[in-house]
Amino acid sequence: MSKKIPHRLYLTEEQMPKQWYNLRADMKELPAPLLNPGTLQPAKLEELYPVFCEKLAEQEMDNTTRYIDIPEEIQDFYKMYRPSPLIRAYNLEKALGTPAKIYYKFEGNNTSGSHKLNSAIAQAYYAKEQGLTGLTTETGAGQWGTALSEACAYYNLPLTVFMVKVSYEQKPFRKSVMQTFDAEIIASPSNTTKIGQMILSKDPNTGGSLGCAISEAIEKAVSTPGYRYVLGSVLNQVLLHQSIIGLESKAAMEMLDEYPDIVIGCAGGGSNLGGLIAPFMQDKLTGKASPRILAVEPASCPSFTRGKYAYDFCDTGRVTPLAKMYTLGSSFMPSANHAGGLRYHGMSPILSKLYHDGYMEAVAVEQTKVFEAAVFFAKQETILPAPESAHAIRAAIDEALKCKETGEAKTILFGLTGTGYFDMTAYNAFLNGSMSDYIPTDEDLQKGFDELPEVPNQ
Ligand SMILES: *Cc1c(COP(=O)(O)O)cnc(C)c1O
Repeated sequence: MSKKIPHRLYLTEEQMPKQWYNLRADMKELPAPLLNPGTLQPAKLEELYPVFCEKLAEQEMDNTTRYIDIPEEIQDFYKMYRPSPLIRAYNLEKALGTPAKIYYKFEGNNTSGSHKLNSAIAQAYYAKEQGLTGLTTETGAGQWGTALSEACAYYNLPLTVFMVKVSYEQKPFRKSVMQTFDAEIIASPSNTTKIGQMILSKDPNTGGSLGCAISEAIEKAVSTPGYRYVLGSVLNQVLLHQSIIGLESKAAMEMLDEYPDIVIGCAGGGSNLGGLIAPFMQDKLTGKASPRILAVEPASCPSFTRGKYAYDFCDTGRVTPLAKMYTLGSSFMPSANHAGGLRYHGMSPILSKLYHDGYMEAVAVEQTKVFEAAVFFAKQETILPAPESAHAIRAAIDEALKCKETGEAKTILFGLTGTGYFDMTAYNAFLNGSMSDYIPTDEDLQKGFDELPEVPNQ
């Protein structure tokens, strides 16, 4: 008889990873470099210093160091909520009647309710170490702002969060959580920045966007002495910190003599996906194994599946360096009825390159299908998933159902990035039947592509 696999497997503190893994060190071809938008030349390390903390800028540019030590203070902080459990979804498997073995890595066991704390604490640590006096950031749905508020409170660092106005109005309790951790919250666009004033003068009733909040946060950081800007996704440094998810998952699966045939993650800016897949992608890049890697995105914000692989700004205000990535254009905004998160216009340059080179796949799913999966999962596994995470659940269920048809007992691993307690408005819309799907037309998308910056020979 095969060994009984426990419902939940936790590594011991001793077994926890002590280094992050830098996927770039094993890539056959590197992602294209960030470009200075003025000169269109590759951005230099020093050019990042006014915006980013120095150590983080170095991590951003480091394409060669394979393993980077996790500072002991960060390891100690991680121990307050890590290792996160690797869970065997026995009940979900049974309910689906699938021969597939489904595992998920659950990152919602901390107050921020998501994986974002893994990078937030690292970024706050390096900022403190450099003697900075404060940080700025943006938040959309609020998970990143919450995670960073916790991390900054831990290090007594003042934090200003520009929160996308629609979320600010729709999620008052998110704001209260951040305020509990002493963060200053400003609804974006605001009149506290030049870019905010400009956007408001064009459209006083705008609900704001992530890209616009990023522009405001950067402006505040570069105009305030001792301040820097931090970002919770997309960047190489964030994927590096999030590799802890994949490293723990792989170690736990090894203890069970398991290895995934398919690794699935939701994709907004790419940080949880990049972190979860990191060591499995390493195996793929080095020829040790060839798991399928699957990104799942909303059909209403389909950067991978319908975006262009091109240089673009990371923000609406067009002030950031240019990144080569799958993008819908920095002015793209998902339709107003979109409720499932993952609304960023671009995608991590690392993941974009891997996708472009055929190392991973992507699917886009409609939100009613996503919430259907969320509710089904909640009833089987007793965790109320974040809508973002439910994209991965949807795809995992679909893969498990394919196994049911073919009779294959595949091993599926997916990332359950967080809990959905602040998303009950969206859940309500699904439950009372008022949620609808909107898939942008090619014409809708063309508007975003028309505004891509011109970069010759890319
Ligand atoms: C932010 C967030 C995501 C999406 O961000 P990525 O950078 O793509 O990982 C997914 N799930 C949850 C719970 C989040 O908070």
